[in-house]
Amino acid sequence: MREILATGVEVVPVAGAGDSGTVPVDALVLTNLANGRWLSGFSGSAMVVVLTADDLLVITDGRYATQAPAELLAAGVDGRVVIANRGSEQQEAAAGAVAGLGRIALEAEHVSWSRRSRLAAEWFAGAELVPSTGVIEGLRRRKSPEEVARVAAAATAADDALAEVLPRLDERPTEGEVAAELDYLMRRRGASGSAFDTIVAAGENSALPHARPGPRRIEPGDLVVIDFGAIVDGYRSDMTRTVCVGEPRTPGDRIYEVVRASQQAGVEAVAGGVSCAEVDAVCREIISEAGWGEAFLHSTGHGVGLDIHEAPSLSGRSDEVLAAGEVVTVEPGVYLAGSGGVRIEDTVVVTDEGCRRLTCSPKTLIVA
Ligand code: ZN
Ligand code: ZN
Repeated sequence: MREILATGVEVVPVAGAGDSGTVPVDALVLTNLANGRWLSGFSGSAMVVVLTADDLLVITDGRYATQAPAELLAAGVDGRVVIANRGSEQQEAAAGAVAGLGRIALEAEHVSWSRRSRLAAEWFAGAELVPSTGVIEGLRRRKSPEEVARVAAAATAADDALAEVLPRLDERPTEGEVAAELDYLMRRRGASGSAFDTIVAAGENSALPHARPGPRRIEPGDLVVIDFGAIVDGYRSDMTRTVCVGEPRTPGDRIYEVVRASQQAGVEAVAGGVSCAEVDAVCREIISEAGWGEAFLHSTGHGVGLDIHEAPSLSGRSDEVLAAGEVVTVEPGVYLAGSGGVRIEDTVVVTDEGCRRLTCSPKTLIVA
């Protein structure tokens, strides 16, 4: 863990803070909760983690006096917890941990302007602060088998919830009712919550990639986009299925066929050593050939783990290459305003030879 400091950290250009590149630092201060959790095992909602060459310090407040030390121990992390409710006590603990150190990296993407000013003036006065980027995020990309198992458990909770809900779609439920049911059933199956706000979008709403479930009823012939996931032990799953009660209205079945072929080709293209842009291109080409290239409104996928969207990005603009152990989604879609949309998404774990699907719900358009 402490070798993170030995290799130096990537910094981004910030006015007054020098150039980009890799620089050696004496300490890394984490204020992003997911990064702090990944490094320390502590899952609370308030923390500052200070990593130095010979210390890992988790600073949190009295609400976590029991939980924080227990979670570090359970994660096998060799570190210290300081419980302090007052800002001045927290400041004192952090300043003590970095006493005499010259250069301290903050997380550029996760520190507000005001917090950075306070850290510079009060917590770490006298030290040189540098804006690091993606240090822990880069390490989080490749998941351990234990992390993959948590995503898989989340995916299974979601698969089971969907299997229970689909046969009831012909009862004309509202989008909101279906979303609430999925959220409830995932919790009944051991999830601690939903991975993000569940999307259930019927008919014309299915053409909105991030529609909010509302009072619209699901009627025969509607395309219904259902995009949801669970959280198990902090790790998230992400899956989309598009279904229809009875035959979809034209061109719903044709859109489905094209997106299905695109998604399958994308999953087949995923492997360690393959570029993210290549997977995106494989999916996009099939949709473009069908004449709907302009209607594929987003990139092909993203990493999933402690956060619902994390590195790498499976986009045409990405210069990243997939590696075994990464958990990513493949989720092409076509959205025709006024008529409807289709998205199909799986969460997969990358292997050297290809990938293994973690979300396993059947891909059947007509469900009742
Ligand atoms: Zn999704
Ligand atoms: Zn997704």
